[in-house]
Amino acid sequence: YLKLENITKSFGKSQVLKEVSFAIAQNEIVALLGESGSGKTTLLRIIAGLEFANSGKVVVNDKIMQDASTFLKTEHRNIGVIFQDYALFPHLNVKQNIAYGLTDKNERILQDFLRIFELEDHAKKRPHQLSGGQQQRVAIARSIIVNPDLLLLDEPFSSLDQSLKRKVRSEISTILRRQNIPSILVTHDPDDAMEMADKIAILQKGEIVQFDTPENIYKQPINEYVGDLTGGIN
Ligand code: ATP
Repeated sequence: YLKLENITKSFGKSQVLKEVSFAIAQNEIVALLGESGSGKTTLLRIIAGLEFANSGKVVVNDKIMQDASTFLKTEHRNIGVIFQDYALFPHLNVKQNIAYGLTDKNERILQDFLRIFELEDHAKKRPHQLSGGQQQRVAIARSIIVNPDLLLLDEPFSSLDQSLKRKVRSEISTILRRQNIPSILVTHDPDDAMEMADKIAILQKGEIVQFDTPENIYKQPINEYVGDLTGGIN
């Protein structure tokens, strides 16, 4: 469903991604783990079309996003992106934020989303009147109401405290699976990966060194780096 083939990226002389390849099936959530600077955000930006890969191929839903002769602009990719600072529109209320990308503002669908995300009581509030977890749900609702082919989440829980994070991540994985949206989750927290992901991709200095189920990675880390990264899993 998503296929990455030999993605390579350099900034000046430093090579940030080296021949990155993996595939994600429909309805799969893949967590991307790696130390700071290993290239996680750069890879997401390439998939989203916010950055050029120097070489390689990105295919989503059988459509070529980038290869040697093609580069689809980000607005033509139908990929939802949620970054750390999920930047809701401050002057719009919750419902207007969620409806923002919809061309046809279907009231029934909007009500469904408000209900699914438990935001009905907050529909008229502005973002600053919401908790971090509620804001996060608005951001995710806004991204998936437009039916993206793929969702990219870059450290989406970093502003949430531990107990809220547990609740939000289980809600979000349920929603993603129900809506059948394949996703990539970038995280520093191995618990996020263990809880949400079907597969984990480990980036070490721009290379995917292991790609497997959380269980296999935990039981059989391929090297010390992977062991250290996932050591917090229990
Ligand atoms: P973190 O977990 O800290 O967010 P990351 O794994 O997401 O790190 P990236 O942000 O992808 O890492 O950065 C990978 C490397 O590429 C870093 O060394 C970074 O300094 C470099 N880099 C990223 N963007 C640029 C840019 N626009 N120009 C030059 N170097 C960049």
